Amino acid sequence: MRATGLRRLGAGPVAAAVVVAALLAGCAGGPDGSAAGAPASTAAELPAPAQRSPAGAPAKEGTQAAAAAPAEAGSDKADSDKAKSDKAHSDPASPGVVVNKRRPLSPQDFVPPKLVVPRVERTVAAERVRLRPDAAAAVEKMFAAAAADGVGLTLVSGYRSFDEQAATYNHWVGQYGDKAQADEVSARAGHSEHQTGLAFDIGQADGTCTLVLCFRDTEAARWTAKHAALYGFILRYPQGHHEVTGFSAESWHFRYVGPEIAAAMKAAGTATLEEHFGLPPAPGY
Ligand SMILES: [Zn+2]
Repeated sequence: MRATGLRRLGAGPVAAAVVVAALLAGCAGGPDGSAAGAPASTAAELPAPAQRSPAGAPAKEGTQAAAAAPAEAGSDKADSDKAKSDKAHSDPASPGVVVNKRRPLSPQDFVPPKLVVPRVERTVAAERVRLRPDAAAAVEKMFAAAAADGVGLTLVSGYRSFDEQAATYNHWVGQYGDKAQADEVSARAGHSEHQTGLAFDIGQADGTCTLVLCFRDTEAARWTAKHAALYGFILRYPQGHHEVTGFSAESWHFRYVGPEIAAAMKAAGTATLEEHFGLPPAPGY
């Protein structure tokens, strides 16, 4: 099934480059990101997409893990707490799931039971920005709040299937000629949190620095860094935590964790999900 994701796009090289940039895994610094700035039509509610395997386990209620303090090392209780915490963060249907280079989705071809198109400005086709309903609703609220503050946001990327991620990763392996470099900018299939339907990439309405490093200096990045937690989002790949997350800083990649976890992380001052939940860092596979 390799490359089917890209073939499906059926677009010219520029559009393909835009989409590839948007598909980056961690999406780090794609050279084609700046091309993604073309404003999109307002997204209309689309019919729910066909689900490939809707039989996923229902989402667990709440996230007890949100209140769980990181385990203290050196005791049986700590070990037990740690095991529980680890399990709580393995369910891809939970907003507390942690996906990284050492924590693949389980099952690897997980598909969220429901995906919807947030009704916000976007730069790519509607099917490229689908999210879980809870994440989509929060995106709509956050974008509206940003607009009220005079900050125009666009949605650049959302849910990505296992096959789409495989195609994206293989594209970068081909570009660089080896996996080591591709691993710096793109997650291997089954390891991208975009596959949970909880992660998305934003752009600034005028297209400034889309998916590239200088996005961090835009008004859109500053506004979201300040306000995202209110809506249940965290900046998943913050500056200075590459060795923990496995990816360079991405000021455009947000992850829905729910307001509770987002607020707890803000209050505790923890920058990454790994640190917040006491999970091992994932600098590589
Ligand atoms: Zn991303």
